[in-house]
Amino acid sequence: MIIAANWKMNLTIREAKPLVNSIKKYKGRNKVILCPTFTLLPEMAGMLKKSRISLGAQNCHFEQKGAFTGEVSPLQLKDVGVSYVIIGHSERRSCNAFNPDYNRILSKKIHSAINAGLIPIICIGETDEQRKKAQTKKIIKKQIEASVPKKGKYIVAYEPVWAIGSGKTPTREQIEDIHEYISKLVPGTKILYGGSVNEKNCKEIASISGVSGFLVGGASLEANKFKKIMHV
Ligand code: PEP
Repeated sequence: MIIAANWKMNLTIREAKPLVNSIKKYKGRNKVILCPTFTLLPEMAGMLKKSRISLGAQNCHFEQKGAFTGEVSPLQLKDVGVSYVIIGHSERRSCNAFNPDYNRILSKKIHSAINAGLIPIICIGETDEQRKKAQTKKIIKKQIEASVPKKGKYIVAYEPVWAIGSGKTPTREQIEDIHEYISKLVPGTKILYGGSVNEKNCKEIASISGVSGFLVGGASLEANKFKKIMHV
């Protein structure tokens, strides 16, 4: 299993340190990836140096350098010890909801991340409105076709937007059905489930066929909860 933590825009260095200290000796069989905000990355890289836990970022630009004020490039992420990068999280897609070209930008980011030696975690998923209109598979297919690369290593995270931070999760059958659908579009790719995963439901979701791990938001910010998920 791959257990990736999306800390979003949370924690200062002082707040993150005890959390990392309490999990960094992890010796379990799962691949654990922490994705803090950009400002925490160098400090976290130092703390995780001798650990089996990997470091990820939450976004990157599609160029490696240049006049892009406020952006961070894949090359710069690699430079501070990052190995993974979340791309196309729904919270970033919603900031760009009025850009009809955004899937193409995501595709450029993914290629650029792979070129810099990073493994992208590509987020896809339907909104509540799309789900109610029975458009889930159509949306997922469109997101995959528009952004997933033909070559290079990557991970897909299926995150129904309505399940993120809501405490709601799809049924077992729904998760299995969508993961099977995605695996037909991108055979051999690891597919994570994300959306209100916690220490109580992680075992059940991990047992669903086609689930290769989780992308965890809220529950990754509390050491005791995240430790249980890490050991799923
Ligand atoms: C996420 O933001 O990627 C996420 C899955 O959040 P949460 O676990 O809080 O629903």
